[in-house]
Order: sequence, then structure tokens, then C-alpha cells
Amino acid sequence: MNIPDLLALNARKFPDQEALITPECRLDWASLHEQSLLLAAHLRTAYGISPQDRVALFMPNGYAWVLGYFAVLNLGAVVVPINARLAPAELDYILRDCGASLVLGCAEQYLTLAPLLSESRPGLNLDDLTKLLPHWTRKHTLEAIEPSAPCTLLYTSGTTGKPKGVLFNHINLLTVANTTAVEMDVRPDSRLLHMMPLTHSAPLHVFLLGGTYVGAAHIVLPEFTPTLLLDTVERERTTHFFGAPVAYLLTAQQPDIAQRDLSSMTCWVYGGGPLSAEQVELIRQRMGTEQLFCVYGLTEAGPSGSLMKPAEHKIKAGSIGCRGALHTELRLIDDAGHPIAGEGTGQIQIRTAATMLGYWNKPEATAECLHADGWLNSGDVARRDADGYYWVLARKKELIISGGVNIYPREIESALEQHPAIAEVAVIGVPHAEWGETVKACVVLREPLDDCAQILRTYLQPLLADYKIPRLFSQHSALPRNANGKVMKHQL
Ligand code: AMP
Ligand code: MG
Ligand code: MG
Repeated sequence: MNIPDLLALNARKFPDQEALITPECRLDWASLHEQSLLLAAHLRTAYGISPQDRVALFMPNGYAWVLGYFAVLNLGAVVVPINARLAPAELDYILRDCGASLVLGCAEQYLTLAPLLSESRPGLNLDDLTKLLPHWTRKHTLEAIEPSAPCTLLYTSGTTGKPKGVLFNHINLLTVANTTAVEMDVRPDSRLLHMMPLTHSAPLHVFLLGGTYVGAAHIVLPEFTPTLLLDTVERERTTHFFGAPVAYLLTAQQPDIAQRDLSSMTCWVYGGGPLSAEQVELIRQRMGTEQLFCVYGLTEAGPSGSLMKPAEHKIKAGSIGCRGALHTELRLIDDAGHPIAGEGTGQIQIRTAATMLGYWNKPEATAECLHADGWLNSGDVARRDADGYYWVLARKKELIISGGVNIYPREIESALEQHPAIAEVAVIGVPHAEWGETVKACVVLREPLDDCAQILRTYLQPLLADYKIPRLFSQHSALPRNANGKVMKHQL
């Protein structure tokens, strides 16, 4: 089985059930399948796209995006989704790195794209094409595609260094999709709301493929705003949503949240970053839901990793749960690479059939994190408590080492998040002549504080050891985040 088979199967099982709803279309599974075959035929005949060619997608979420994605997969080619907000230099780097044969774009993105196109790397504006589709008759007939054939190349967000291409085959992606369907109870009559960029592994594999796995309907919007979220949930009676933690914090702050009807929602999924116990409680009260699911993972793992269900949030909110998601093993290792039993602090490792085949053209980088026995280094440091729950403390690269002592930013962030004046906080290490690094807290305040540094230091005194208390504070109107909602600590 491969992804195109899945689409064909949905078209047979649920031909006239809703598959894709966007501001520009409402398609059932038969139409989505048929249109993806028509576009595939065009890509084959007009551009000579063959199995394993890389075809980039450079446009915001929408009808054309989803259609282009499935059309490329129908050809046995490798789809390379690229975030539509990237600057020309970043886009250029990725197009060269993956050796794209064709770039699918839309009118909005064409100004950025056009100077990077050439005879050997043409572009196609899908806004025009999708108007022509209904008049086409020639369909692509599916050729055999091995489940083990590479099909997707995702560039990691690059919060550290240049982005690397993460390569997946159909087996990897069907594994993630199956995990979602089972763990989050996605059914043929579920309605999934997509507002995060589909160019990231979680929105794309966990959500778009998770819903496609069972023939659920996808409601795809170009961007996230709290009002758009609330309006769409009410109008489309959606059942599942995936968002970065910041999406929930913004939604919970909406003044009219109590008047909104969110009763259709059975599953609110957050991941990509933590929500503290206080934030979970705030969301529970303001949004009136107990149905919060936490996912922890990383692109290189599918993204698979851990999963924490709603009931566990009552006692362990702020953690990432105590187990791997379905099909996934989780463990902690010490600095020497030995597994840690019971309570302890170490690096999380993940093993799952969803794990990438490797980084594109970077065998050394692959060997550094992916071991022959299948275990993948997450790069995340976590503590496992007496009940087996994992608490992410820091990314290994964002550990602060001050005077030779390890300081975990998450520990300080959690303490500060409990202060009523603080809306958001990111803790980083900054160079210090004597200690190597010193601790700095970058805060977004809910209400103004006179002499903020002094007040917060006094507040932290009884909560944290002296060496962990930030020496420096800075105030921000918002934290810098990438398109996936992750705080870009290197910019701070
Ligand atoms: P990405 O490769 O862009 O998917 O980012 C993966 C990284 O995001 C992980 O290595 C973690 O550092 C972080 N992350 C993902 N999910 C969570 C979560 N639920 N809680 C805390 N950190 C998370
Ligand atoms: Mg990463
Ligand atoms: Mg359906």
C-alpha cells in the first residue's frame, strides 16, 4: 500500500463524502482523487516528471496545495513542501539542495519564485491550472509504487543552522497516519481543521494523512487567527484541531470565547512545544474543554514520539506523557549512550517505523543521530519522574552551561510562567566572561510591571536555586516564532 492507493481507496469507499473544504472549493473524495490524477497526467506529459524526481510545492495552504501534493505522489515522485513565507535566499538554498525538477506555486508566491526559475527548473502557477482541470479528460493511470520508495522531502525549520532535507517513504507516512487515526479516534465522519502550514511534518503527516487514512473531511485554511479558528469550528462543526501551544494561548484570550459553541470538537491536539500546567488550566477554563491531547515528536521521527491523553493532563500537565505513541518506543540515555532505567535525566531516543530514511545527501549528519539499531537521538533532554512521565527540560543545543553547571531553560520558564504578569517567556544563555554563559529571561508581560527584573527575581528566590535565577531580563511585545510557532531562541 502507498499514499496514492489510500486516495483511490477513499474514492471507492466514500465517493460522495466531503474530502476537502477550502475557501475556494468543496470536494468529495471521488473528485479529489480524480483531479489529483488529472494534474498528475499534466505534470507527466507537460514537464516529464518521473518517479523519484523532486517536485517542490511553494504556496500557502489551500486547494491548490493539497491537489499538487497528491498529484506529485501519484507519479511516484518526491514532493518537497516549502514554507511559503521563506525569503528568496532560503528558497533558493532548498531548491538547489534537493535538485527540484519543477516548482508548483501560486500567484501570490510567484514574485519570489520567478527569479529562481530556469529551463531546467521550470515553475507552474497552480492558480491558473486548477481552473482548467474540469475540462481535462486525460487521467494518469497509477503505476506500481513500492511502499519503500522515497516520496517526501521535508526541510526542517532550521531553528539551528541551515535546513536539512528529511526523506520519508510511504511506509513511514502510513505509520504516522495510522497512529493518529487510532490514538485520536479519527473516523470517516470526523472533520479535521488545518490552520498550521502543511509544510511542517505534524500538520502534514499527523493531521492531513491521519485524516486521509480513514476518509475524514479536511477543512484547510491559509493561516491561523483565533477568530478564524472559532468561526470555522462553529460553521463547519469540526472535530479535530492541531495547533502549536501559542495558538491555544491566543485563542483562550479571545474576549468572546465563553459565547462560542465549540461542542463539536472532540480532540484539541497541541505539540511542537510545551504547555505548562497553568496554561493547560487556563485553556480548560476559558475554552471549556477537557479534550486536550499532547503530542511530542520531531520531524526526523515522522514526527512520532510520545502522546498524552486528556485524562492524564489532570495530574501530569506540563509533561509529554509516559509512553511512546502507537508504533513508537521511547527511552532515555545518559551521556555515554546507555539507557537509563527508572527516574533520571538524559536524552530522549525514539524508535519507530515512521523514522526518516535519512537526511538528503548528508550521510554523516544522518549517522550522527540515527543508529543502526533504529534508535534516533531526539536532541532533547528530559527528566523521567517516579511515575514514568517525561518532562522536556531543554534542547541539548539550548542547554545553558554556567560555571560548568547545566541549567535547563524549561525549568526556569515553567517557574516564570506561573507569575500572573507573564504571558510568555523564553530563557536563553548569553555569553559571560567569567562563567561562560549566564541566564537571561525574555518575557512578554500581560500587564506592565515597574522594575520587572527586581520583582521577578524576588519571585523566583524561593522557587529556584540561586545560580538558575536569570541575571538578565528583557521585555518583548511578542516572542520571535517561526512559521510553525516555535520560538527562535537564536534570534533572541
Ligand atoms: P521539529 O523537528 O520542527 O518537529 O521540532 C521538534 C522539536 O520540537 C523537538 O525536538 C522538541 O524540542 C520540540 N517539541 C516537540 N513537541 C514538543 C512538546 N510537546 N513539548 C516540548 N517540546 C516539544
Ligand atoms: Mg528539528
Ligand atoms: Mg468522510
